[in-house]
Amino acid sequence: MTDVVQSPALTFQSLLSRLSDFWAHHGCLILPAYDLEKGASTMSPSTFLRVLGPEPWRVAMTDACRRPTDGRYGDNPNRLQHYYQYQVILKPIPDGIQEIYLDSLKALGINPAHHDIRFVEDNWESPTLGAWGVGWEVWLDGLEITQFTYFQQAGGLEITPPAVELTYGTERIAMFLQGKDNVYDLIWHETSPAQASVSAEASGACAITYGQLFHQNEVEGSTYNFEVSTPERLHTIFEAYQAEVETCLARDLPTAAHDCVLKCSHLFNLMDARGVISKDERTRFILTIRRLAEQVARAYVAKRQALGFPLMPTENTLLAK
Ligand code: ATP
Repeated sequence: MTDVVQSPALTFQSLLSRLSDFWAHHGCLILPAYDLEKGASTMSPSTFLRVLGPEPWRVAMTDACRRPTDGRYGDNPNRLQHYYQYQVILKPIPDGIQEIYLDSLKALGINPAHHDIRFVEDNWESPTLGAWGVGWEVWLDGLEITQFTYFQQAGGLEITPPAVELTYGTERIAMFLQGKDNVYDLIWHETSPAQASVSAEASGACAITYGQLFHQNEVEGSTYNFEVSTPERLHTIFEAYQAEVETCLARDLPTAAHDCVLKCSHLFNLMDARGVISKDERTRFILTIRRLAEQVARAYVAKRQALGFPLMPTENTLLAK
């Protein structure tokens, strides 16, 4: 097999830019990551809000995800409490989307003809967002690398026209491409000898690893999430943000309200990591966040309608089909 562990192997940085080049070529806007904590890129307004209503939307982005309970103090080779998803949303869904997805793997140097690529049925659901979809986990030689979802509902609202969400697990794909067993050994970026001598007056090539960049963050993040955070304080802040959602909605500010829902969700995840939430409380928290998310979704669609659905295709609209 010659298409992995290329020489030089694709760096993490190049992997992200290749995906962006690929999806830009397929008509996506490339947006920066959203700046609030999210357990999954699905919660970003670029997904959760933009899939609602009739406006078309095509976006691709590298998005940071925080999953406090996934923390392993930097000891686990492929599970992190802070990692990067590459998120693609296509609404309406282009013809041949599965083929296009496989082409994106080819753009990374993964030839589907040389590997065991499986689409394993995995209907996705987010109880806190009132969102669900049907689709698959994509496995590459037994490794889960992408969640591929035909989005049906978000915030309790039907998604029409339908949208597809592709969520690439970037670290796992990079590990595969670079032939690494440990995420912390991934090469994030490598300067050539020529670049190194110009920028850093060094004489040799210089590689920066994922571990050099983020291992400390994983150790400290896990320590904070599991040992140091103050559950009572988190609870108080949760209630404060919950009240902020209502305040924002009362002033017809659904995007600001959504930011507060994101805060609530992350605070819930932090309390969960501390192990202080009983089964009944968990259900109550999830229902609370879901109710807020549903209110935000309805308010967002009403507001877009009041604004005349500004992204509806016209002759001059970039996103027009
Ligand atoms: P898992 O079953 O491994 O917990 P998931 O189904 O919850 O993953 P998704 O939300 O679908 O994961 O995320 C998309 C991709 O991100 C997954 O296909 C996987 O490759 C990767 N991924 C998920 N969780 C982590 C993590 N904690 N650290 C690194 N990569 C992850």
